[in-house]
Amino acid sequence: MSEYDFIRDLVPTGVWIDGAAAPACGGATFAVSDPATGQVLTEVADGGSADALRALDSACRVQSAWAATSARERAAILRRAWEILIERTEELALLMTLEMGKTVAESRGEVAYGGEFLRWFSEEAVRIGGRNATAPGGAGRILVTQQPVGPVLAITPWNFPLAMGTRKIGPALAAGCTVIVKPAEDTPLTMLMLAAIFAEAGLPDGVLSVVPGSDAAAITEPLLADPRLRKVTFTGSTRVGKLLLRQAAENVLRTSMELGGNAPFIVFEDADLDLALTGALAAKMRNGGEACTAANRIYVHNSIREEFAARFAEKLATLRVGPGYAPEVDLGPLINERQRATVTALVDDAVAAGAVVRTGGKPIEGPGFFFQPTVLDEVPRTARMHREEIFGPVAAIYGFDTEEDVVAAANDTEFGLAAYFFTRDLDRALRVSEALEAGMVGVNRGVVSDPAAPFGGIKQSGLGSEGGSEGIHEYLDTKYVALTR
Ligand code: NAD
Repeated sequence: MSEYDFIRDLVPTGVWIDGAAAPACGGATFAVSDPATGQVLTEVADGGSADALRALDSACRVQSAWAATSARERAAILRRAWEILIERTEELALLMTLEMGKTVAESRGEVAYGGEFLRWFSEEAVRIGGRNATAPGGAGRILVTQQPVGPVLAITPWNFPLAMGTRKIGPALAAGCTVIVKPAEDTPLTMLMLAAIFAEAGLPDGVLSVVPGSDAAAITEPLLADPRLRKVTFTGSTRVGKLLLRQAAENVLRTSMELGGNAPFIVFEDADLDLALTGALAAKMRNGGEACTAANRIYVHNSIREEFAARFAEKLATLRVGPGYAPEVDLGPLINERQRATVTALVDDAVAAGAVVRTGGKPIEGPGFFFQPTVLDEVPRTARMHREEIFGPVAAIYGFDTEEDVVAAANDTEFGLAAYFFTRDLDRALRVSEALEAGMVGVNRGVVSDPAAPFGGIKQSGLGSEGGSEGIHEYLDTKYVALTR
């Protein structure tokens, strides 16, 4: 008996294929651990190539029947899945906190946010449009229709174990595609629980599979090499995204890529400072800093930098650090030791280059992978963290004197996901939002994510949009039918 036995009642810990959990072919399992203690929570089936191909067989078997269902039918299943998900908020939130580490309050927020993609795309399913026109020459008709792309492979990261899945599954199912999910090895439990929720909501067997595993490539490579797969959608690092793009080229797959970020967060001299501090707290500390949209470089005008840094350090120093499921905790652990070592190395590098530690700066000893909430001021732009994603509770503050300089610095990166700035000047708000090279810009706010808006990056932050009315088009092919009058 273990205190974690309840997880096995909640989660089908097998490979989820054809509407049921089964052991992996070969019977192997791998351990999923609590990052707050390092303790094993449960064992999960360790899927490999045979499981992946079994999932694809099953997806292909039902693809045309699923594509032929009415939009209303698909919408009703998505809507029902959203309702069940919301009813199970507390169980899902606890599970997510146990495997990922964020506080239960944040996990509840993710259930609401992640669930919303199911509700939103249940509403979009019935609005898949087309076009009908007379050919300019007058002799023919142009009929444009949208059809589901076909079987989709969705690969998700560990930082938002639910939402990064629903953001892909929602539009794919709404469009009429079947989906195989390969969840991150650190956090497969939430996605497996979601699969069971979909079954309860009436999703036909085979339409959604979940193949967890400790060796990602063993699952994804045979799928990408199989001509029956028609699309890969990925959220994760730019490094792996590039690898997948190369593999997807072989069969000319449709691709959607949500990759790394290096978001600038700019506070101009005319900003409302209280608002900017609240925004910075959200943009930096949401998800413990483990977000692709996290404020990675905080640029503050030199006339207000001292006050901003002092007040921000004061705010961060009061955050209570501990296991995300303990009462009155504001900040949980990082996902694993590797991530903590990366954050530590970036902080040490910045300090060696001359950054001033305003608060924190060190990993916390003891079980679990905790790091102190940290504010670094006067970080030189030569520090590694100016170029690399920190992915932890570390705020790096840089000074600037002119709008021209800060916009150039903000754009001086291969990434282009999110950007934020604070100003009270409307002209500047328009000018700077147009000049920033990012797929999403927050003006006077520190959070941009919204299921009703297109989420996505430019440059090496990705391809395509998730959410909004744009999101479903990632899962639809355009077909042109030429008719003679
Ligand atoms: P990761 O790229 O290491 O892993 C993401 C997923 O890819 C996991 O499921 C992993 O198992 C799988 N994977 C790893 N190697 C693979 C391979 N060789 N072939 C196929 N699949 C493979 O990223 P991570 O560390 O889990 O997540 C953090 C990264 O994700 C950060 O860079 C962050 O910015 C990014 N991210 C982006 C968004 C976005 O929407 N743009 C959202 C969340 C996270």
